[in-house]
Amino acid sequence: MNNIKMFLVRYAEIGTKGKNRYVFEDVLCKRIRNRLKPLGEFDVRRDFGRIYIEALSDYDYDEAVEKLTKIFGIVGLCPVTVAEEFTYESISKAAIEHFEETFGDSADNPYDSYNFSFKVHTRRVNKNFPMNSMEVDMEIGHDLLEKFENEGLHVDVHKPDIMVEVELRGEQGYVYSKIIPGPGGLPVGTNGKAMSLLSGGIDSPVATYMVAKRGVEMEAVYFNSPPYTSQRALEKVEKLGTIVAQYSGPIKLHIVNFTDIQLAIYDNCPHDQLTIIMKRYFFRVAEELAKRNDCQAVITGESIGQVSSQTMQSLAVIDNAVDIPVFRPVIGMDKQEIVEYSQEIGTFETSIEPYEDCCTIFVDKHPVTKPKLFSIEKSEHRLEGIIEPLVEKAIETAEVVILK
Ligand code: ATP
Ligand code: MG
Repeated sequence: MNNIKMFLVRYAEIGTKGKNRYVFEDVLCKRIRNRLKPLGEFDVRRDFGRIYIEALSDYDYDEAVEKLTKIFGIVGLCPVTVAEEFTYESISKAAIEHFEETFGDSADNPYDSYNFSFKVHTRRVNKNFPMNSMEVDMEIGHDLLEKFENEGLHVDVHKPDIMVEVELRGEQGYVYSKIIPGPGGLPVGTNGKAMSLLSGGIDSPVATYMVAKRGVEMEAVYFNSPPYTSQRALEKVEKLGTIVAQYSGPIKLHIVNFTDIQLAIYDNCPHDQLTIIMKRYFFRVAEELAKRNDCQAVITGESIGQVSSQTMQSLAVIDNAVDIPVFRPVIGMDKQEIVEYSQEIGTFETSIEPYEDCCTIFVDKHPVTKPKLFSIEKSEHRLEGIIEPLVEKAIETAEVVILK
């Protein structure tokens, strides 16, 4: 498909934002430019409610599609064949080339060669074109039939398999027919920033993806407990963050050494409350990091009832540790649903690699499932004077890596 020199970007939701629409479109254009930069030279422009991407140099079509279909805000991507001249003959030639390119021997043609129905739909934005849109519809339809009828092509004006779109805009004729689905959502950077608690499990990468999909820029924090957790466990988290970053854009990951805090909790608090208290300290550290990095919320991969620390009572007690809003996008999803989601975005295979995480190492055989806030607070009193410098040190010594 390397004769394709242009893409038309379809976006849905950002088209509904009224006056803000331009802001959203500009951010989307910027995301597209950044993502395509390593692949060649492209002109990305906005034109009356549409975004066009034009290749100005050679590029790898498959690579470009791969990158573009991971940009939030893009609902669909149409490869466009551009007519050489703004004349009917040239546009007709482009339509035939477009068909050959798209359906000829293309591996992703779902039809048996040209054995499908079609209809031509023309948009004549430039009214100076000498034929009206119905005439263009009919003539292009005729030319395509003449060329491909023997190979099964036929017209169906009511329910065509393929809509052939012809656009006459400015001094240019465009032909496109295929929509490659994008991820939808809103362009990252249009909705503030959040700090995600990213572990090596299945849930938190999905949660991070879901929030980024709503246009939120993501940072992440991982609580590392060496030597109880390994370098491999950290690398797994980095790998997961990198997969999510292919969609969200670069993720600043804060790696917090949590060992001393965890040991202090272990030495001073009832063991059936360890997980809850540890989570409260996760949240406290995450809240502080969020504030220092202009994040407006904390994100986790918790889902009601999945484990003892995710009962409603536990979640309420954990939330109580901080003032910052905590959002849990997978809260109402079943494990199987989260698994399917992670398979779709490509994190699943990495998530199931068997590296220990710090929650499992210090976990009690019989953790509380309905913790009472006063009882947890009472236990935390025993940490007074011991834990504050440890928390401070954990925050100050956090390492930062940019995942992209
Ligand atoms: P996940 O699949 O995301 O690891 P989980 O089912 O293992 O979740 P928990 O271990 O209870 O559940 O963790 C709940 C949430 O707490 C995680 O989704 C994640 O957001 C956060 N979390 C857990 N461990 C860590 C860690 N070591 N560093 C950062 N965040 C963590
Ligand atoms: Mg986990």
